[in-house]
Amino acid sequence: MKFDAVYYEPASLTYPLGRMLRENFGELPWIPIESHNSIKEMQEKPNSEFGKMKRNLIIGIRKTHKYVENHKVSDFLAPYTSSGCTAMCLYCYLVCNYNKCAYLRLFVNREQMLDRLIKRGKESGKPLTFEIGSNSDLVLENTVTGNLEYTINRFGEEGVGKLTFPTKFNMVEPLLNLEHRGKVIFRMSVNPQPIIQKIELGTSGLKQRIEAVNRMCEAGYPCGLLIAPVILVEGWRDLYRGLLEELKAGLSGKMKKRCFLKLF
Ligand code: SF4
Repeated sequence: MKFDAVYYEPASLTYPLGRMLRENFGELPWIPIESHNSIKEMQEKPNSEFGKMKRNLIIGIRKTHKYVENHKVSDFLAPYTSSGCTAMCLYCYLVCNYNKCAYLRLFVNREQMLDRLIKRGKESGKPLTFEIGSNSDLVLENTVTGNLEYTINRFGEEGVGKLTFPTKFNMVEPLLNLEHRGKVIFRMSVNPQPIIQKIELGTSGLKQRIEAVNRMCEAGYPCGLLIAPVILVEGWRDLYRGLLEELKAGLSGKMKKRCFLKLF
């Protein structure tokens, strides 16, 4: 992935991931910041700069680790290794939350975050499911950090309960041979291709997403499909009927048998 500049909290370079990013993006300008939460230079930019701002990478240390109860597909939303994204879905709730500062922020203290998740899972009397992808797209993030590889291998070995995350991207190749041991639920978000093209800007196409979820299912991950958000543009019934037909034709037999489906 290409970026224009890196804004970073200097303390992030004391973490292995921070140093790895410094090495990988060493040719870019590195601009020190006090906090990833408040970058004055960005806050002052006009909204018209939104697209350009998303071409910066922000690196910091996550300080908030509060889990929020959730009863959709998990027990808790757990803040994890990134927030924001380089894509530009027009409905993205991150834009409502962070306004024009919905750029990709990476948090380098992944060991600390995963330690907490593993500890929480072990201490609970019943198996819990933790949603780790509610603030960003981890498959996209993984192309920069390799964090999913780190997370899935370690949780597969040490974790109790399950992790889950949704995605709109197809770069699953590095995940296929990991030791997930069935503890990581992969959810692919889909929409009709014309909606992806006009509204989910910068994400993977429908065919690529279908192919990716088939591959994850084949690799033994529990997989789900998410048709969300359903967007009521003119002719939406035909578009969504077409989507269901494409899913019927494109999903593998195994995926059709095993997957679960959520509509929002
Ligand atoms: S892919 Fe997800 S996180 Fe990224 S802009 Fe779209 S909805 Fe937001």
